[in-house]
Amino acid sequence: MWGDEIDIAARVLSWATDRLTRQPDPHSTAQRADILRLEAGTTITGDGIGAESALDVFDRVLAPATRAQADPLNLAYIPNAPTQAAIAFDIAASAANVFAGYWESGAGAIHAENEALGWIRELLGWPTTAGGTFVAGGTSGNLSALHAARTHAWNRLGERPQGGWAIACAASAHSSIRSAARVLDVDVIELPTSNDGRLTGQGLADALAARPGLFAVVASAGSTNAGIVDDLASLSKACVELDIWLHVDGAYGGAALAAPSVRHLFSGIENANSFIVDPHKWLFAPYDSCALLYRDTQLAKNAHSQTAHYLDNVDREQTNPSDLAIQLSRRARGLPFWFSLATHGTKKYSTAVEISLTNARQVADYINGSNHLSLVAEPMLSIVLFEVPGWSDDDYQAWSSTQSQNGRILCIPTKWEGRTVLRLAFVNPRTDATTVTQILDEIADWPVH
Ligand SMILES: *Cc1c(COP(=O)(O)O)cnc(C)c1O
Repeated sequence: MWGDEIDIAARVLSWATDRLTRQPDPHSTAQRADILRLEAGTTITGDGIGAESALDVFDRVLAPATRAQADPLNLAYIPNAPTQAAIAFDIAASAANVFAGYWESGAGAIHAENEALGWIRELLGWPTTAGGTFVAGGTSGNLSALHAARTHAWNRLGERPQGGWAIACAASAHSSIRSAARVLDVDVIELPTSNDGRLTGQGLADALAARPGLFAVVASAGSTNAGIVDDLASLSKACVELDIWLHVDGAYGGAALAAPSVRHLFSGIENANSFIVDPHKWLFAPYDSCALLYRDTQLAKNAHSQTAHYLDNVDREQTNPSDLAIQLSRRARGLPFWFSLATHGTKKYSTAVEISLTNARQVADYINGSNHLSLVAEPMLSIVLFEVPGWSDDDYQAWSSTQSQNGRILCIPTKWEGRTVLRLAFVNPRTDATTVTQILDEIADWPVH
C-alpha cells in the first residue's frame, strides 16, 4: 500500500551511516522558528512530498538546526558523549522495533537490558534479587522511584498521614525532585547540609518527628550544579534505623560508581532502596535512557502494575519492565547501552569515566595555580566551578556567549552561594584538558567592562 518501502530504508540508512561516520560532528546550532519555516517549506501535505524531499529537508535544514551533543568542548549542562557502538546499535534496536514492556513480547531485548542493569547492580553492591528497567530520563526515573516509595509507605500505614506526605532532600537536589513532588502532591522538606555542601544523616530523626508523613529521603550522588555526592554512609544508616526509603539520584554522577578513584564517596549506597543513573549522561549512550533500579522489585510492581481486562493474560510471574515504572508501551531503550558495554567491556567503561575525573582535576589544578582565576571548591566528581575575580555578571555572560558563538567552548555561568561562577562538566573522554586550560588562560586578556 505504501509503495517505496525498500527504497526508503536504503536512503535513510545510508544517511544514518554517513552521519555516524562523519568526523568530527558537523557544526550545528539552534535556529529561529520563522527561519526554519521559511527554509523547510511545507512538509505535511495531502499527497506527501516523498521520501527524497523529506530527507533532503532534514539533511539540509533540520539536522543542522540541532546541536551536535558530543563535541568534546561542549562542557555545559551535562553533555552527552555516546560511543559509536551505542549510536549504531540504536539504529539496530529501532529496526528490531521491540515492544519491551512485557517479557512475553520482548524477552530477548529485556534480557539484554537486564544484563546491563546487572552490572550497575553489582557496582551498587545490591543483592541479585534487585532489578529495574530503563525509562526515558532521570525525571521519569525519580518520579517512578518516589511513587514506589510512597505506595510502600501508604500500604504500610493504610491511610494518608496527618499533615500529608513529604520527602526530604538538600537544596542541591535536582529540579526534577521538586517536579516529582508536585506530581505526587507531596511536600519537600529541605534539610540543611554540612559545610562541604553534603546532606548527612544528622537531623533526619528531627525531621521525621516533625513530619510523620516523611516517606523518603532523596540523596544526590553527584549534584548537577557542582557534582556533590551526599554523605550516603550516614544517610543510609539513618534511613535504615528510621525505616525510611532512601532514593539515590545518580543521574549524572552514578556513573562514577565504576571509577575506583572515587568509589569510596558512594559508600552506604549498598543500603539504598532505589537508584537512577542516566546512560545518556556519563555512560556513553545516546538519548534517551535512564537506568532505574530497585532493591526490592516487588515494591515497584505494587506501585506501577497496570491492570485491565485486556491485560489479564499478561504473564506476571515474570518481571516486566512495564510493572516497574510509569510506562506501558516502551522501546528497549537500554539496548544501545547494553551493546556498547558488551562490545567494550566494563574495564573500558571504568577507564573512560576516570578520564573525565582526571580532566576535571587537571583543570582544577590549573585554576588553583593561575593568577587570574579562582576555584570555588575542589571538584568531588567531574564538575568544576570557578570564578574570575573582578568580573560582573555581564562579563561572565559576554565571555560565555562569545565562546559559544565562535564555536570554541560551551561553558555557561551558574550560581554558587548567590554568586555568578563558571561551570565545566566533563563527561566526554575525548575532551582534552590542555585545550580547555589554554582557553581559560586567554581569560587573562579578556577586556573587563
Ligand atoms: C540530569 C539530571 C536529572 C534529570 O534527568 P533527565 O534525564 O534530564 O530527565 C535528575 N537528576 C540529576 C542529578 C541530574 O543530573
